[in-house]
Amino acid sequence: MKAIWKKAYGIPNVISLANGDPHHSLYPISQIDFTVPSLSSDNPVGDWRTGVDQSKILSSYKDKPCALNLGIALHYGAGAGLLEVREILQNMNQLVHNPPHTDVILTLGNADGLTKCFRLLGNPGDSFLAEEFSFPGMTNAPLAQGINWVPVGMDREGIIPERLEYILKSWDEANQGCRPHVLYTIPSGQNPTGGTLSLGRRQEIYRIACQYDIIILEDDPYYFLQYDRTQDSPERNSDASMANGVDNPFARSFIKGLTPSFLSMDVEGRVLRIDSFSKIIVPGMRLGWITCNAFFSRKLEILTDSSTQHPHGFGQALIAEMLGPQGWGFDGYFRWIDSLCADYQRRRDLFIDIFNREMKGKPYASVDKPSAGMFMWIEVVFHLHPRFVDEESNAALNEELFERIFESGVVVMPAKTFAVGSGSKTGNQATKKVNYLRATFAGTDDQICNGVVIVCKVIRDFFK
Ligand code: PMP
Ligand code: PLP
Repeated sequence: MKAIWKKAYGIPNVISLANGDPHHSLYPISQIDFTVPSLSSDNPVGDWRTGVDQSKILSSYKDKPCALNLGIALHYGAGAGLLEVREILQNMNQLVHNPPHTDVILTLGNADGLTKCFRLLGNPGDSFLAEEFSFPGMTNAPLAQGINWVPVGMDREGIIPERLEYILKSWDEANQGCRPHVLYTIPSGQNPTGGTLSLGRRQEIYRIACQYDIIILEDDPYYFLQYDRTQDSPERNSDASMANGVDNPFARSFIKGLTPSFLSMDVEGRVLRIDSFSKIIVPGMRLGWITCNAFFSRKLEILTDSSTQHPHGFGQALIAEMLGPQGWGFDGYFRWIDSLCADYQRRRDLFIDIFNREMKGKPYASVDKPSAGMFMWIEVVFHLHPRFVDEESNAALNEELFERIFESGVVVMPAKTFAVGSGSKTGNQATKKVNYLRATFAGTDDQICNGVVIVCKVIRDFFK
């Protein structure tokens, strides 16, 4: 059916008696107004949050000109998403990553995008690689499909390339099955550790991926939330080009401070980059996109056509109006993100200041300053605890500490929640290093102040 429809699409004056599609004249919606920040000050996020910003209305219409006509946006569409929106995202990719492979397919956010990639690339019994601590919302997704996770050793930055290479070099197909062909990685503001891979590590990991024929799933919802950026960072190797035929000076200077993505260095078409609007606009919109080579995107489109269908038209209409020339455009979008980064950076620093103040002189726990994302990875030094025996004690002590924090009215996440592949054939060293708690600094100042004070007090008391 989809193939016939594709063949007919675009033929002038074709009469469709084909599908059970409601006619757009019967849609009970003629206009949608999105009230968004005007971006008229130097502090868009702060002014929006405090109600100082006067706001701006972006409208989508059924019967008047706009970036994306509602008759089209609210109709059934193809699985890849509407051309208008895909073109905008392709242009944005060009500006940000300048990738050799630019096919874009829309998703219902990264959870959906990744689930589809796992289905596309995995057969029962296959082994996939992932950071030894990773986001269980995603690593649980392909378990029912029979995927075996192989944890890769990491430090505060993320994957240690030598560990990755060692796993691949020493893989024993007779005992372990097929060598892994997929690496699932969260390169910026990693969930849960908050780590961000440097350019050097990314290049080394990419080199290993080429050598061992690994497909990289680059799950990067926090990419744009990078802090302490220096403009004109020497890390960025390609100057961003013009996008959409328009120069975007603010966007260009913002992007120069970001660590280059795996996609930007992908000359072999082995990276599927999975992006989301969840952390930048709103998570409830359920809209994201995958950028990959044409072969994979075609397969993903077929998978989408046979499962979720394309994302809903409301979100696509908002993105078309917001990022189009009558809305924020790319310059406005990156001004919003820049201001968002300043706000999250301030929250991060507040978290760390309070944590260090509360733990002063007490060596029981520490945090590193994450350079991206929303997560603090609190390391708890259980070997200073009176009941510590050996590394195996970490799990039980962390469980007990987590319960005490919970009973004190604060929810954090214990490290064991994130330990990947505990049942895997290669074992998991992470299960011994579960002396961490994940906490977010995404909340309000009050939540951070009160929450961190309680967490630190419970930790201090726990070690008494
Ligand atoms: N089931 C049947 C029998 C249908 O006719 C259709 C729409 N043609 C669908 C499911 C898909 O419906 P929806 O648009 O709600 O996904
Ligand atoms: N991947 C990672 C690493 C995440 O942290 C999250 C959200 O918490 C997701 C994917 C899911 O993102 P989305 O809302 O785009 O589905």
